Amino acid sequence: MPVLAWEDDPASVSNPQPIQRPVPDLNKGPFSFTLQAPTVPLPPPDIYDVGTLNFRIWAASEAARRGADFWTGIFQGAGIGGKSWQPGAPLPIILDEGLDLNAFYDRQALNFFHGAEGDQTVFSGESPDVVCHELGHAVLDAARPELFDAQFPETAAFHESFGDMSAILSALQLPSIRDVLLATTNNQIDRASRVSRLAEQLGDAIRLQAPDAVDRDCLRNAANSFVYEDPQNLPSDAPASSISSEPHNFSRIFTGAFLNALAGMLLVRNTTPTADDLVRVSDDFATILIRGVLAAPVLPDYYSQVALQILNASQAVNNGAYTPILRGAFVKREILTVDAAVTTIPHQHSAMGMAAGATAASSVTVAAHAGERFGLRGKRVIIDVQHGYRPFAAAPAVRVGTATPPVHAEAATAFVEDLFRRGRVDAEAHQSPADRIVHPHVKTTHYLEADGNDLRVLRRRFDCNFGRPR
Ligand SMILES: [Zn+2]
Repeated sequence: MPVLAWEDDPASVSNPQPIQRPVPDLNKGPFSFTLQAPTVPLPPPDIYDVGTLNFRIWAASEAARRGADFWTGIFQGAGIGGKSWQPGAPLPIILDEGLDLNAFYDRQALNFFHGAEGDQTVFSGESPDVVCHELGHAVLDAARPELFDAQFPETAAFHESFGDMSAILSALQLPSIRDVLLATTNNQIDRASRVSRLAEQLGDAIRLQAPDAVDRDCLRNAANSFVYEDPQNLPSDAPASSISSEPHNFSRIFTGAFLNALAGMLLVRNTTPTADDLVRVSDDFATILIRGVLAAPVLPDYYSQVALQILNASQAVNNGAYTPILRGAFVKREILTVDAAVTTIPHQHSAMGMAAGATAASSVTVAAHAGERFGLRGKRVIIDVQHGYRPFAAAPAVRVGTATPPVHAEAATAFVEDLFRRGRVDAEAHQSPADRIVHPHVKTTHYLEADGNDLRVLRRRFDCNFGRPR
């Protein structure tokens, strides 16, 4: 008995029809789940009507299983097949925690909500785009837990980009989506499509309340033309039409490079590609990506570091045939200079003292600031600062427009200042009422752990609402 599921976001086309899929086994390891829904016991697998809770339970389960099966295969190929969820398996999927246009990953569960859109109700856990984005946070946390509390704008933004890449790659696991994508883009898959457009339904709902907070036709579109800028020189927030240092906004630069790369790799594989070519190229990209993520040191200039390691990892896949395409994507997005993209690659892992598939080491120091800087009078604010080993120290500027990489502590401090500006730090308990700065409706992502007069800034969750009214 199959179940019904959405291929991608239910608002990606005007009259979506669910498809039949095999019953997902949530218990399958290493990436296993438990589903928590407002009904006990869970309904048996069956064909349920769209719009019912029972349909949503199986649609969310199918999307999570599809994404987790994809990443399980990629982890095995990269030699880290034994890894499981950072908080341990199984990972709860909490289908509906109440009224909110939101979804988040908090190292305890994948959390989903519902919200009103006009006379409709939007369930964030019903969209495979949103489920596989949140899943992406959990997958990246399994591979590189250091990134969870790395206080750099580029690591936070990369986490969001990885979520969006996970959503796109998980959608491409469906043969029907691959056929549609090739047909509607004339094999040029970095054109705007139902696949490049992410979380259309949530985007529609947020747009009604905050018209400039999201793209015209979705939450975020991977078919974009944004190029890299140093996040320390960007405003902490901006409309969706321009780039800011806000992680979801800034993530679009890397996701754009990803979609350009995937499109180019497809044509390297076959100038008249088939759906089979597309699934193989998705596997190849994800394998290169996860190897790059493992090897990339956690540094303030993380985009360029992970890009260089992706180029490096690409040498070992398909005889290096994808490297020039990947170079092109990162150079076009100004994530890498032309010089760095050419002269630092190829680099053998052994030359960097690392075995292939090994994880780049990092240490943590702290930056301490007078609390007044963040509105915390009489306190000291402690920020953990990741120090990855920089394997390309001898390279010229790897980023366009910068002669020297950003200083770790400065980048971490700028990131935390941004968090306070956006009201993302739960600081109220540590402030006198006279000093409070209030951001109504904003969900916090970080908290302060008190040790005497010291307050350490720590992450609570990756939150996918934009801190917009709801
Ligand atoms: Zn996210």
